[in-house]
Formats: sequence, structure tokens, C-alpha cells
Amino acid sequence: MSTNQDQLHRYLFENHSVRGELVTLKETYQHILENHDYPQPVQTLLGEMLSATCLLTAILKLEGDITVQLQGDGPLTLAVINGNNRQEMRGVARVTGDITENMSLKEMLGKGVMVITITPDEGERYQGVVALEGETLTDFLENYFRQSEQLPTRLFIRSGTHEGKPAVGGMLLQVLPAENADRDDFDHLAQLTATIKAEELFDLPANEVLYRLYNQEEVTLFGAQDVIFRCTCSRERSIDALLSVSQEELESILAEDGHIDIHCDYCGSHYLFDSMDVQALRASVANASPSTDLH
Ligand SMILES: [Zn+2]
Repeated sequence: MSTNQDQLHRYLFENHSVRGELVTLKETYQHILENHDYPQPVQTLLGEMLSATCLLTAILKLEGDITVQLQGDGPLTLAVINGNNRQEMRGVARVTGDITENMSLKEMLGKGVMVITITPDEGERYQGVVALEGETLTDFLENYFRQSEQLPTRLFIRSGTHEGKPAVGGMLLQVLPAENADRDDFDHLAQLTATIKAEELFDLPANEVLYRLYNQEEVTLFGAQDVIFRCTCSRERSIDALLSVSQEELESILAEDGHIDIHCDYCGSHYLFDSMDVQALRASVANASPSTDLH
């Protein structure tokens, strides 16, 4: 098992009714930054959000899709990470103003909210919205857990570089459901976890990280799950977007460019449609629509 593979690990404190997770991300993170020229603070934020989303996805135990979104009225209007229980992740940010090297999260986002959307494969979509209280993404998320009355949860996120390339990682502790974990024990484990250094997360195998942090504790480390970059865009999904545009607008783009180019911000894919494609799509939609003049 190579430590270069992006992986999520789950672990359990045998004597404390507390579980943990650890994730390290290099390739997935680098893939999200590829083809974009984000300012450094935005790159860091996307990495932190990526770590957090992997960790959240793993504790939610859902089969489905999760989106963590920060929206604001500052120069960073949107930052979003989207993933699923198979740990297939993607993300994008929208920068509309100047972002300087040392800008805080608050300065970048201005007034805004964090929106967490959970879409199970089966069942209803759930959306939680929280105000941006605190200074860091970790503050926002811990608030979210408190406000949605979930189990006591702490997150620890580290970003930096590994072998000269962007890297990020994170750890999460949560009290086990339906068990009375001692609050002092939980706080003590959180203090130990807070000492984790970025280099340790990036360089060491998970079992060594756990040993360094918790050598007095009895910890069980479970099998790892791979994390990968994967975009869910497709030509078929682009067609839906295309059909939502008015005929006039499509024709004017076709007249000017000779084709319509639907671009995916997440992965950089282009889906091209020429006038023949558009005509064929219009015709197939017209045929598929129920006729309205039968009655
Ligand atoms: Zn895509």
C-alpha cells in the first residue's frame, strides 16, 4: 500500500466510544486545481473543503451525493466540493474580484452562508444552511454539527505541499451514536489529534500517524478507501443544459461561432454541438413531448 495514493481511513478507540477518520489528498486535490489559476488562499480553501467533504461523506454513511458550498458577496462568490460515498470528488471556485495573498476567509467571502446538500441515491434530498460564524472552515463545520444537533464532532485540517506539490489532509473525531462517551475523554482525544502536523499527514502511513498521536490508547485501524477525482459531467447532461437555452440564443451562438461549446468548470471538458446536432435534439424533444392538441 503506497502512501502516495489518496486514501480515507477509519479508526476506533476501543475504550472510549469515539471513532475517527483520517484522509490525505494529493492527486485528487491537484486535479481540482488543474486548469484553473486560483489565488493561493482559494487553492488552500478548496483543499480544506475537499478534506472536510471526504470526512463528512464517510461519517454520513449514505449512498449518494454530497455538496459542500460556500457562497458570499465578497471577491470569492462560490467555492464548492461535490462528492459521493465512493469517495469520487470534484470541486470548483468562482473568483470575481481581487484576492490577495493574506486575505482571510471572511475577507474573501464577505457576507455569506455554507450550504450542505445531501442527495441520497434513494430518498429525499436534505439541505442544511448555516451562517459563516467563526474564522475557519473548521469553525463553520463544527457549528453545522452543533446546529443540526448531531453527535459531538471535531475536525482537524492541514494544508501545505508534499514533494513540491499541493497536498491537504484532515482528521475527524466523533462520539459514537447511542453511547455515552465521556466528554473529558473526547476532549482529551481531540487535544491529542490537534497536535497533528501537515508533514506527518502527508508523509506517514496512517498506522504511524495514529501511533504518534495516540500511543497510550488502544486504536483499531480499519481498511482504507481510495479517494479519486471524478467528474459526473457528460454529453447527455450537457444536452439538458442546452435545451434550457432559447432557440434564438442558440441560433445566434451558432451563427457567430459555428458551434455551441458547453464547458464543464469542474474538469475542463468541452462538449461541442453544431447546428445539425441542435436540430436533431430539437426534433427528438418535439417527438418525445406529449401532444397538446389531442383533446
Ligand atoms: Zn466535468
